[in-house]
Amino acid sequence: MKYNNISVEELKKEYLNLKKEYEKFKLLNLNLNMARGKPSPEQLDISSNMLKQIDVDVLKKTKEGIDARNYANLDGIIESKEFFSNILKVPTNMILVGGNSSLNLMCSYINMAMQFGILGNTPWNKLKKVKFLCPCPGYDRHFAICELFNIEMINIKIDKKGPDIQNIKNLVESDSLIKGIWCVPKYSNPSGITYKDEIVTAFAKLKPKAKDFRIFWDNAYILHCFTEKDDNILNIFDECEKYDSKDIVLEFTSTSKITFPGGGISAIAASEKNIKNIKNIFSKQLINYNLINQMQHACYFTSYEKLKNHMSEHAKIIKPKFDLVLKMLEKNLKDLNIGSWTNPNGGYFILFKSLKGCANKIFKLCEKAGVVLTNPGDVFPYGKDPTDSNIRIAPTFPSIEELKKALEVFCICVKIATIEKILKIN
Ligand code: PLP
Repeated sequence: MKYNNISVEELKKEYLNLKKEYEKFKLLNLNLNMARGKPSPEQLDISSNMLKQIDVDVLKKTKEGIDARNYANLDGIIESKEFFSNILKVPTNMILVGGNSSLNLMCSYINMAMQFGILGNTPWNKLKKVKFLCPCPGYDRHFAICELFNIEMINIKIDKKGPDIQNIKNLVESDSLIKGIWCVPKYSNPSGITYKDEIVTAFAKLKPKAKDFRIFWDNAYILHCFTEKDDNILNIFDECEKYDSKDIVLEFTSTSKITFPGGGISAIAASEKNIKNIKNIFSKQLINYNLINQMQHACYFTSYEKLKNHMSEHAKIIKPKFDLVLKMLEKNLKDLNIGSWTNPNGGYFILFKSLKGCANKIFKLCEKAGVVLTNPGDVFPYGKDPTDSNIRIAPTFPSIEELKKALEVFCICVKIATIEKILKIN
């Protein structure tokens, strides 16, 4: 059966049956949350041993002879730089290890650009306007930073290969008020896509009109494959090396979804020139980040292999959840032709695309039945999805049983919202 192929009478009958089912779910007083990309408690348990294993004598003397319990290196201890160097494949002299949040590093960098300017350029808040390019659907907290600083956001389309690079090139190379672009290049939040080689190369080849234009390369999910097939992504700094453009990239990552969200460590990788600039400004706001936590991570992940094995443990917990969501969508919605969804190899999200104009309705129906989803608009700048059709599903936090219930409700809500749209009800 396809909803656009059956008679109005049949559709009305189906609608009444669905409403009955929906009312039954409402009586269950469910309280299920698929809104945020949070690891489940079982995932957090994987890292708990790290908390038990730190030896105080090890803390007292790092490889460089620093006492990690005391004030020292703003840019981090060498052990933690080596840890991120293995992940990002950039040399340690291009790395600053931060605190418990990469988002905080991104926001601090923009704050610095606003107040003091980047490498001698005019502070952004002295310009008549600052604009950022926002490939979307994207990460809501990136957009929230732009809103905070009154940065104008420009939507950029994104497809399976990555963002619309021709449009980006045209804009960046002609407008000096465009100062940045948000990119989640691997297992993108929320579309799950990984940028193809030609897109990464084209980013490295950009010749921005603004000298202080920066690509915010947020590689939050660089290690987060949960299938057998990890997506390949080019190292953007290797590409920049070829085109002499290292200064335009700032790469970010963290262990938030490797060890503990809000309790891990983060990093910026950038050219030495940019790192020096960042250190100069950041040094006024703190002496150093948490070196004890840096040492704890470095001592626990003694090799890259150990880190990869650790991520496989996460994958074992995450994969069945993604499989369940995909199976439920397939079983309940595929034949109806009323939506499509992504099937990523990694990351934290499935992006569901409803028929145009249905996403908000689905969200509200789910909410009334006790299933919380990310507000549909949130994955677009200013909270406005131009087609009202994108819904981010975050399957990692709920248990398998909760997820099954949540998906039953979700699929019914998709059907109801779609029929209401077709029949122009409400
Ligand atoms: N970047 C992306 C793309 C994310 O999805 C998230 C969290 O969901 C973050 C950054 C936040 O990272 P952190 O905990 O390091 O601030």
